[in-house]
Amino acid sequence: MFELQNKIALVTGAGSGIGAAIAETFARAGAFVFVTDRDEKSGREVADKIKARKNQAEFLSLDVTSEEICERVARTVLASKGRLDVLVNNAGIGHVGTMMQTTGADMDRLYSVNVRGVFNVTKVFLPEMLKRKSGNIINLASIGGVVGVRDRMAYCTTKFAVAGMTKSVALDHAKDGIRVNCICPGRVETPFVSARLAEYSDPEKARQEMAATQALGRMGRPEEIAAAALYLASDESAFVTGTEFIIDGGFSAGK
Ligand code: NAD
Repeated sequence: MFELQNKIALVTGAGSGIGAAIAETFARAGAFVFVTDRDEKSGREVADKIKARKNQAEFLSLDVTSEEICERVARTVLASKGRLDVLVNNAGIGHVGTMMQTTGADMDRLYSVNVRGVFNVTKVFLPEMLKRKSGNIINLASIGGVVGVRDRMAYCTTKFAVAGMTKSVALDHAKDGIRVNCICPGRVETPFVSARLAEYSDPEKARQEMAATQALGRMGRPEEIAAAALYLASDESAFVTGTEFIIDGGFSAGK
């Protein structure tokens, strides 16, 4: 039902997990997708997979922590397509730990990708969107940006910031034709979660416990998050801005 014909989209961190699913879903819905990631190999693979299906994509190397690289990528995108309709700030990293188990370096690392990264990429595309009075920004926050999650102090801190940035930019530019929303997934089975599980002494036990914390008794699938991104990217969601779209299998329903 939702389609993105003639739309130009860019997804950060699109070489893996949720970002890859969003890039593939958008391309299938008719968008031209700039698949970007700091990991060239996985990003190129996703772009090649999309092109092999006769959908449209191009890989661009993008580390969201570098302002200089963000500016260069924006120049490339705008020179090639003239505009960006949909920006998905998906790149993000995790960390397991309480305040006592978190170092200042951990805080800086998470902040630089999860918060500063969203800022850096939004900042280089917003001027062109404002000029055209049209733009759609989708940020990947987390259920950890809506409720506190045990052992995720640094991660939650950054994801609450993403939710705050989403609402602020949405309000500041609502009258400028710009919509900004965030998606707040619960646990989704991706390499991101596998990496967190590997930090536990018994990863399989931790995996089962993680699945059980959802009311639905399982983790989500990347495609289930991509479906929400497709709705937010489409014109059918024209009245939706500044929202936190929770997709968490009921994780936060009873809290
Ligand atoms: P993932 O680890 O599978 O993929 C993340 C991608 O981001 C990787 O391809 C990685 O190379 C890229 N990346 C990391 N740092 C980058 C940087 N500095 N610049 C550019 N790219 C970078 O992760 P995922 O599970 O697909 O998560 C995607 C987003 O969804 C993240 O923002 C994450 O916080 C959020 N999220 C994930 C879950 C989950 O359970 N998987 C839950 C809630 C929110």
